[in-house]
Amino acid sequence: MTTSTPLGTAVRADFERTFSHQPIGIWSAPGRVNLIGEHTDYNDGFVFPFAINRRTVIALGERDDRLVRVSSSFSDGVVEISLDDLSPENLHGWSAYPLGVAWALGQFGANLARVTGFEIYIDSDVPVGAGLSSSAAIESAVAVALNDVWGLDLDRRTLAKVGQLAENRAVGAPTGIMDQSASLLGQADAGVFLDCRSLESEVIPLGFDEAGLELLIIDTKVSHSHATGGYASRRASCEAGAAALGTESLRDVSVADLDRAAELLDDETFRRVRHVVTENQRVLDTVRTLREQGPTAIGALLYASHESMRDDFEISVAELDLAVETALSVGAIGARMTGGGFGGAAIALTPHALIPAVETAVIAAFAAAGFGIPDLFVVRAADGAMRNE
Ligand code: ADP
Ligand code: MG
Repeated sequence: MTTSTPLGTAVRADFERTFSHQPIGIWSAPGRVNLIGEHTDYNDGFVFPFAINRRTVIALGERDDRLVRVSSSFSDGVVEISLDDLSPENLHGWSAYPLGVAWALGQFGANLARVTGFEIYIDSDVPVGAGLSSSAAIESAVAVALNDVWGLDLDRRTLAKVGQLAENRAVGAPTGIMDQSASLLGQADAGVFLDCRSLESEVIPLGFDEAGLELLIIDTKVSHSHATGGYASRRASCEAGAAALGTESLRDVSVADLDRAAELLDDETFRRVRHVVTENQRVLDTVRTLREQGPTAIGALLYASHESMRDDFEISVAELDLAVETALSVGAIGARMTGGGFGGAAIALTPHALIPAVETAVIAAFAAAGFGIPDLFVVRAADGAMRNE
């Protein structure tokens, strides 16, 4: 990212207009998409997301008192609080994300009694609620900025935990650490292979650029009211399956164990378990295939992941299935639903030249089926959080 991106220029102007002085710097962090590894995080398994070329950009200015003030292009007004009052109970609405990070840094060693206040203006082109983690983008941008200006010297893995703690405690969303890890550790044209048990991570080159591939996001705009209940019941099935198999988590169950699992578990629990176990293997296979054969060879793994979520985990919906099948029929090399399920987005790994044809076909197929108009856009794997100016 160059120093004079439109977003960087806009956020500087917005900061000056809102706070009537100059910021001391500009920081940014990307959203993320999960290439493969769905519902594996809370089973201590593997995920393989990448940071995308959509970013949340913040301008930060220092104060010489104890006040913290945050504002965003996302909503009117300025939210103000004293550093002395920062606690999860005192944080509400969107400002719980940036202010929660300031609080969480205190839990990871920042001495909030000794730092001075600050002002932050937030701008973003990460779509909110499209499954691209605008929340991790805002947390990671604030985390790297305060880490710099408060001189904390926390490493990126710790900053990922800071973002997660903010989201879990200040926002109250029980999320894992995948999103923050991708946003903080991502690199251009590379994915972040993450072991959700050890939290070890490795940056793996994707080679999409050289192969002429792009990742098309097909946001179905569907959000089902039973998503929360569906998520909870899938988690419960995974826990019940692990307990019945005598393991701490499904991470410890391998594909070779599935025959025994089929005998021990009821049909539904077995199929939930089979999704998680085979999905973990597909993440490992994707990383190996990228290394040995390159990205054009991972298409079958992406589609196998979709079939597993559709048939075994049962979290797909008709819109997602249609998006996937249509993209594949027009020339995507692999496609799958991504995210928690019951709506949201599908991804289609597609040769650059075929993107317009896939877009047209998906829009036509949705219209013919009587579905709402989907939102389609291409993302590329981009660098993680950074200081821009
Ligand atoms: P997502 O899938 O996009 O992460 P979440 O519900 O987890 O969806 O997070 C979205 C929330 O994060 C928004 O409702 C808002 O509270 C906050 N948020 C994201 N981006 C911004 C922003 N640029 N400015 C202010 N708040 C933001
Ligand atoms: Mg989120």
